[in-house]
Amino acid sequence: MRAIRVHEFGGPEVMKLETVPDPVAGQGQVVVRVRAVGVNPVDTYMRTGTYAIRPQLPYIPGSDAAGEIESIGPGVTEFAAGDRVYVAAPHGGTYAERVACGVGQVHPLPARTTFSQGAALGVPYATAYRALFHRAQARPGETVLVHGATGGVGIAAVELAHARGMRVIGTGGTDKGLAAVREHGADVVVNHRAEKYTDEIVKATGGRGPDVILEMLANVNLDRDLGMLAKFGRIVAVGNRGRVEINPRDAMGRDAAILGMTLFNVSDADLREIHAALVSGLANGTLNPIVNRELPLADAAAAHEAVMQAGALGKIVLLPDR
Ligand code: NAP
Repeated sequence: MRAIRVHEFGGPEVMKLETVPDPVAGQGQVVVRVRAVGVNPVDTYMRTGTYAIRPQLPYIPGSDAAGEIESIGPGVTEFAAGDRVYVAAPHGGTYAERVACGVGQVHPLPARTTFSQGAALGVPYATAYRALFHRAQARPGETVLVHGATGGVGIAAVELAHARGMRVIGTGGTDKGLAAVREHGADVVVNHRAEKYTDEIVKATGGRGPDVILEMLANVNLDRDLGMLAKFGRIVAVGNRGRVEINPRDAMGRDAAILGMTLFNVSDADLREIHAALVSGLANGTLNPIVNRELPLADAAAAHEAVMQAGALGKIVLLPDR
């Protein structure tokens, strides 16, 4: 099969399209014929070799994909050949025409969800669910600020919070992105490139501030998040690309919590809950991932450059058959 492989850590150019042996489904595994691959920022961090998780070289990048079950290994009763599925496989291997994974990493893809949308679920939607419901314990009736709502995680968080009865404020850097955020469930949208935009957020909450903030760029925003958070508020640092200075007094006066998270810490039991909820939300029409760009698998390097640029609008997807 054709696959992208990385033989040395470095820039996007280290990803090479190669021919490698087809994977075989082992005990408790399935082989998925991949139709769409989700590109996540974490794929780029891993490729540089500077991330906390360093794959063993050479490796096939990617954790997210969607396609059909091609074959099943011994002991698999949950799936049959031909089933439409999405893959959430944190240990890599989806930038390829086929991937072998354990049944716990594969989930049914409802008929109304396209393969490209299915490739947007593994990291972004699971992260948004984890941040909102497990870490922040966000409740219906609360106000949630999705600080960075236009990207893969942000759109997911907007949809999930809206569906669960929260008031949603979403930020983005482009008019087009903000229109999409509104369309996907935000009650209020604010441009995070505008001067004093946090005033607009505070005004939209009647001066109270958001109860929950999901933060996509904590090194830039954590200090101002603390300054506008409601009493007893919770901030979840989802994305971060550097250091930041805060005044702990802003947290003390609010009884506020600053919470971290990484999807790599989620237990199997919690993952089962997360994906059961996502499959249900896809089937009932609540969840509608946005696919912004579809590129051939061979253009993985271009996709890695694009995912790190400003002006996000949902997901960038690679198509092995193009
Ligand atoms: P993405 O699709 O590239 O989206 C990036 C988002 O950040 C966009 O909404 C972008 O908005 C926004 N952004 C840019 N400048 C911002 C600013 N000054 N303030 C607030 N938001 C800003 O990436 P993603 O997949 O959604 O992931 C978002 C971040 O979370 C990444 O850093 C990623 O590595 C991290 N992440 C962490 C976990 C975890 O387990 N902790 C899991 C998944 C992702 P505009 O482009 O419209 O300006």
